[in-house]
Amino acid sequence: CGITGYVGYREAYPIVIKGLERLEYRGYDSAGIVLSNNNNGIDLYKTKGKVSDLKQIAEEKRSTSTLGLGHTRWATHGVPNDVNSHPHVSNSGNLVIVHNGIIENYDTLRQELITRGYTFQSDTDTEVLVNLIEEIKTQNNCKLGKAVQLALTQVVGAYAIAVYDINKSNEIVVARLGSPIAIGIGKDNKEFFVASDASPFIEYTSDAIYLNDEELAVIKLDRDIKVFKIEDDSTVTPNIQELQLNLEQ
Ligand code: GLU
Repeated sequence: CGITGYVGYREAYPIVIKGLERLEYRGYDSAGIVLSNNNNGIDLYKTKGKVSDLKQIAEEKRSTSTLGLGHTRWATHGVPNDVNSHPHVSNSGNLVIVHNGIIENYDTLRQELITRGYTFQSDTDTEVLVNLIEEIKTQNNCKLGKAVQLALTQVVGAYAIAVYDINKSNEIVVARLGSPIAIGIGKDNKEFFVASDASPFIEYTSDAIYLNDEELAVIKLDRDIKVFKIEDDSTVTPNIQELQLNLEQ
């Protein structure tokens, strides 16, 4: 299972698909991709099966987009099928998430959300999380990063997530607890890459941040990445590492 993402000035689709192919070694049963359609909705393609199956349904139909998130799923909650595949979208249609890991208390959270009027298309723990983020964002009228931070303080489990708001196609929020997530930083903050390991973006940049457990990052174009502790929202100084690309091996 794996996550890839891109926000910048290039077309996201080929970068995200190639990234998913590089993460195939991690094992998966389904694959999906979301492409932001210039603040005007999304293109969402997902399927049980392989990244090559995803390419068959997405490649021709896709619109060009400079923000995309991709996912390979290893099912834990809900059988492998198209509906349970990621990305998942919140009830309003505004928030989109990809997730690796498990939300252990998803059933309690799901019941609470149902009493607040939420409905669910899939059997996944992930769809619960994206709607919890939406509910908190609506209740507190706060920014996405803050809503993700507050939601994750209610979550028991393990995760790497990437979330974005379809009305803001210049920003991705990522977080981790127990599952890896790396962020590639493009020149002058003009583009950013997100992935389970650095292999999807190694040819684009050598500057990377590996999030630590219980950290969240707000990635916004033209701005330095901001990293926070999930527990108390305190600021963390990110440790930017230089990746070594050894082409001779
Ligand atoms: N728990 C989530 C699901 O079953 C994510 C699984 C994964 O790590 O790919 O959909």
